[in-house]
Amino acid sequence: MRKDGIFIAIEVDDGVASDAALAAKLAEVCPVDIFAAPDGRVEIVEKNLDECVLCRLCLDAVGGRDPIPVRVLKLYEDGAAL
Ligand code: SF4
Repeated sequence: MRKDGIFIAIEVDDGVASDAALAAKLAEVCPVDIFAAPDGRVEIVEKNLDECVLCRLCLDAVGGRDPIPVRVLKLYEDGAAL
């Protein structure tokens, strides 16, 4: 799944979207509430996308997985990944 704001887009691999532990972790770590975990599924909160502070906490939260199932894309840099 992918959602785009004006400056930031977030991609989450569909294969982990129903991982309840991962969903809860993402919702917990993001300081600007870009992730939510209703019903144990990852939800991207579109209205908060452009509040991203590029802190990488979401990437750290899924660290160790290969490939990394979450991507933060900087649309103002031609979609470069954080
Ligand atoms: S980089 Fe930080 S602010 Fe941006 S989505 Fe990840 S946890 Fe949230």
